[in-house]
Amino acid sequence: MSIRIALAGNPNCGKTTMFNALTGAAQFVGNWPGVTVEKKEGKLKGSKDVTITDLPGIYSLSPYTLEEVVSRNYLMEERPDAILNLVDASNIERNLYLTTQLTEMGIPVVVALNMMDIVRRNGDQIDVRKLSQALGCPVVETSAVKGEGCVAAAQEAANLVRTGQSTQPGHTFSSRVEQALQEIMDLIGGVVPGESLRWYAVKFFERDEKVLERFQMGEDLKSRLDGIIQAVETELDDDSESIITNERYEYIARVVSGCVKKSRRGMSASDKIDRIVTNRILALPIFAAVMYLVYAISMGNLPFSIGSMATGWTNDVLFGAWVPDALNGFLESVGCAPWLQGLIVDGIVAGVGAVLGFVPQMLVLFLLLCILEDVGYMARIAFIMDRIFRRFGLSGKSFIPMLVATGCGVPGIMASRTIEQDRDRKLTVMTTGFIPCGAKMPIIGLFAGAIFGGSSWVAVSAYFIGVAAVVTSGVILKKTRIFAGDPAPFVMELPAYHIPKAANILRGTWERGWSFIKRAGTVILLSSIVLWFFQGFGVVDGQFQMVEDNNTSLLAAVGGVVAPIFAPIGFGTWQATVATVTGLIAKENVVSTFGVLFGLGAEVTEESSELLAAVGTQFTGLTAYSFMIFNLLCAPCFAAMGAIKREMNSPKWTVAAIGYMCGFAYLVSLMVYQFGLLAQGQFSAWTVVAFAVLASMVYLLFRKGYQGESSRLRAVDAVSAS
Ligand code: GDP
Ligand code: MG
Repeated sequence: MSIRIALAGNPNCGKTTMFNALTGAAQFVGNWPGVTVEKKEGKLKGSKDVTITDLPGIYSLSPYTLEEVVSRNYLMEERPDAILNLVDASNIERNLYLTTQLTEMGIPVVVALNMMDIVRRNGDQIDVRKLSQALGCPVVETSAVKGEGCVAAAQEAANLVRTGQSTQPGHTFSSRVEQALQEIMDLIGGVVPGESLRWYAVKFFERDEKVLERFQMGEDLKSRLDGIIQAVETELDDDSESIITNERYEYIARVVSGCVKKSRRGMSASDKIDRIVTNRILALPIFAAVMYLVYAISMGNLPFSIGSMATGWTNDVLFGAWVPDALNGFLESVGCAPWLQGLIVDGIVAGVGAVLGFVPQMLVLFLLLCILEDVGYMARIAFIMDRIFRRFGLSGKSFIPMLVATGCGVPGIMASRTIEQDRDRKLTVMTTGFIPCGAKMPIIGLFAGAIFGGSSWVAVSAYFIGVAAVVTSGVILKKTRIFAGDPAPFVMELPAYHIPKAANILRGTWERGWSFIKRAGTVILLSSIVLWFFQGFGVVDGQFQMVEDNNTSLLAAVGGVVAPIFAPIGFGTWQATVATVTGLIAKENVVSTFGVLFGLGAEVTEESSELLAAVGTQFTGLTAYSFMIFNLLCAPCFAAMGAIKREMNSPKWTVAAIGYMCGFAYLVSLMVYQFGLLAQGQFSAWTVVAFAVLASMVYLLFRKGYQGESSRLRAVDAVSAS
């Protein structure tokens, strides 16, 4: 007999950790909500006939967010044989709200009381037997991170199915509501599936339109339903949905006071840390300091900058000398044709090597970000940013995609799915790409090394410019008619801090690092070969042939045509133009392109590699910074553009998003470059244009925005009702 068990629970209660423990899979675990948007399936370890499905995290079964709709449709349509309801025991009151809904569905439920390690550490006590009686279903204590109790909980659920036991909700509503529910059940008995009759009755009572839509009902039936509901509403003087919500909470409060004994130890260590870390005044400086430290360790030039040291070695020694020397020696000894040797050494090694050289740095960066995430600090950042974003009319939920995007923009853009309002989701998709992702790090690392003496501030400023670009765009776009409207309430629970788990962190670091290495072996490799070819051949004396000087190459000719567009922002050379364009394929290409174009023939200095030295002669501090900003902010790579297209689901919006990013990047770089020139005493017509741009931006930022009918979104869900 094959058994399907669905894992359901609030965001961040440990479902994915549990899923991995149950199935042996390696899904990404994040210490903030919204990481799992789509459901995932796997076989229960040791029981091939039991399938586990990880559903998105939800606070309730109301249809207000995409996750809720996905989860609810799954439960209604696929009807798993049992539900394993994960409850964060350290936050039991909030979590049980969903439980009261799940037990009504007529599907056998087992509650896995997760995070019991935290409860025990806090010295709290939960009476499991009493809780089980109150809820009407078995309760099993678990600790998903420690792998304790997980399989037992899943087996318990499978046993319910095998022995054919069902779950009856342990709660009842007030007698007036129960009476109405009974009347509704009598009325709809023939219309809805019998096994979930009670659940449907509650949904009908709540006037849940998404559920009502599913059934063909005559006018007569509808009006009788309405009569029943209205009678209760008038009597209790509240709308039916709030009546149900309130009664659920009253019930839960009773259960919790009966089953949970909190220790009187006062504030937990987590709370004490949060008092400082999320403090109104200190939060941002602390965040800036943390990010500075992260970038200093991974990309800075300080005595403890391990990332830069390792990358320095791979760039200068490994890919700067050892690999090319060994390859040259080998290829010459086997009598390889000079053009092929050129392709391999100056094309592939110079291009791919330039990117691979940054791998150690990236691994250190990813490792640090993963630690911050697993410890629980990233969740605090989302909380802090929500406070700030909200002041600008943006949803704090937009910050989660941005956090994810520090690794890669593609999952970042996909994470915007958790934003329920269409306009806020589009806005987030349009702006998430501004965040410096892993692939943009080599660009920053290259310029920091070549021009700015390896200063950590280059990376830190790039990061905050990315955030500022998101906020500015958000504010400007929010004032337009298309995007106007209040953001939905964003409720996020701060998980207790915990010591990071080595396996989680290494897995997260490796996943991000590996996808980076994979790209070097595929996209970057191919681009390097193509680039090498086009920079090595050209038309000389009317004949297509190999050229000595790549300034006479085909690539230089084509790049030279486009280059003037970039002159006003400071880098109108054909090389920089080509690098920018190849950067659209993959951002690492900016670096590999310089590797191929400048890799050879540059003055080799004592302390820096050929590439750094060559880039150093091509750019000044100002042009380098302008170039860097443009490449960080302009359209993201192909993969991210694909993600934008998928999420927008409209060619018009895709073009608008990419166009907006490019335009915004151009204008910001224009200001940086022109004001930089002005500071050096140079004035031109472009200075005037830059001032005009600045004035328009300030106007767009501070004007009174579109004031339409304020959004009447019913974002009241379990959480805001509490
Ligand atoms: P999901 O959002 O429900 O999928 O939750 P995750 O599986 O991503 O877990 C959220 C965070 O809680 C992660 O940092 C986990 O390491 C942590 N976590 C999960 N289960 C437990 C547990 O039983 N005890 C403790 N202390 N932490 C846990
Ligand atoms: Mg998850």
